[in-house]
Amino acid sequence: MNNLPSIDTNHLTKFLVDLLNIPSPTGFAESAIAFVEKELTQFKQLTLSHTRKGALVAKWDASKMIGRGMQSNLPPVALTAHVDTLGAVVKEIKSNGRLRLSRIGGVQWNTIETEGVWVFTSQGEKIRGSVLIDTASGHIYGGAGSETPRNEEHMEVRLDARTTSEKETRELGINIGDCVAFDPRVEVTQGGFIRSRFLDDKAGVASVVAAIKSVAEAGLSPARSVYFHISNYEEVGHGAAAGIPSDAAELVAVDMAVVGAGQESDEFSATLCVKDSAGVYHQGLNKKMRALAEKHIIPYKTDVYPFYGSDGEAFWRAGGDVALALIGPGIDASHNYERAHMDGLIATTNWIMAYLLD
Ligand SMILES: [Zn+2]
Repeated sequence: MNNLPSIDTNHLTKFLVDLLNIPSPTGFAESAIAFVEKELTQFKQLTLSHTRKGALVAKWDASKMIGRGMQSNLPPVALTAHVDTLGAVVKEIKSNGRLRLSRIGGVQWNTIETEGVWVFTSQGEKIRGSVLIDTASGHIYGGAGSETPRNEEHMEVRLDARTTSEKETRELGINIGDCVAFDPRVEVTQGGFIRSRFLDDKAGVASVVAAIKSVAEAGLSPARSVYFHISNYEEVGHGAAAGIPSDAAELVAVDMAVVGAGQESDEFSATLCVKDSAGVYHQGLNKKMRALAEKHIIPYKTDVYPFYGSDGEAFWRAGGDVALALIGPGIDASHNYERAHMDGLIATTNWIMAYLLD
């Protein structure tokens, strides 16, 4: 047991499920940002603002602690997590009325085969459909369908609308560049598992929000001022390149940990990532995060991620001068049909609280 504020796990689950159900591919994440903003508005300790790019920044000013007689002289710190997800846009309207896609982020084509989608038109309409290979009918193509390459050329969106031509599809209001969001298929199953697309990084955002809620409702304040940056362009590599104020001395990116063959991470712990494909994180802050996890008996792993870059590194690359660490809950089958466990979310939330309060 640790002595950190308790976590309202029912609320954490509900917030996460609701957030997962809001479509938010990169570039189309305003509703998800608005949802997080609405949640954070109830905490009067926070001052909320937006970057021009659309990220949400919440400042918790520790010097505003009333009646506690302590003021921190230490510079502020920052945390970032992202609400944007993989997705696609309409690349082309085919002569059969179906849609060709251009992917946002690293969607693997095979992972979206037969998935339901919403197409959001620039006029504000939304039209239902699903992703299929162009040789989908088993009674026409037989076994040949299994030989069809899963790629941009052979995968298409079949709209649930009466259209068999480009003209009819355009008359539905669909145009090139319209957002296509894949169904998350959220399911909270027995024993604390949550499976869904886009737990990367909505599980991280839910942990950050749960930590704020727990600390605030316990009547506590962070030991030093904190910026919470909710990013909306992470999946394309530059989310937190802007929006972390320059007086922040440290940045903790909260993003998914890679679970699978050869990895230390698991779904029941949080992980400190020491290195990913972009390079190594900051030794000093890593050491501090490890010490906090040990002190508060938080189940954690350390790991190296093979194909991964974080918003923290985006800030570094943009010239951000901070100590940087990356922590997050273990997510199985990332960028595919993902799965998390409440224990991993709780560990991450506790770790964030330990970082805020110590
Ligand atoms: Zn992520």
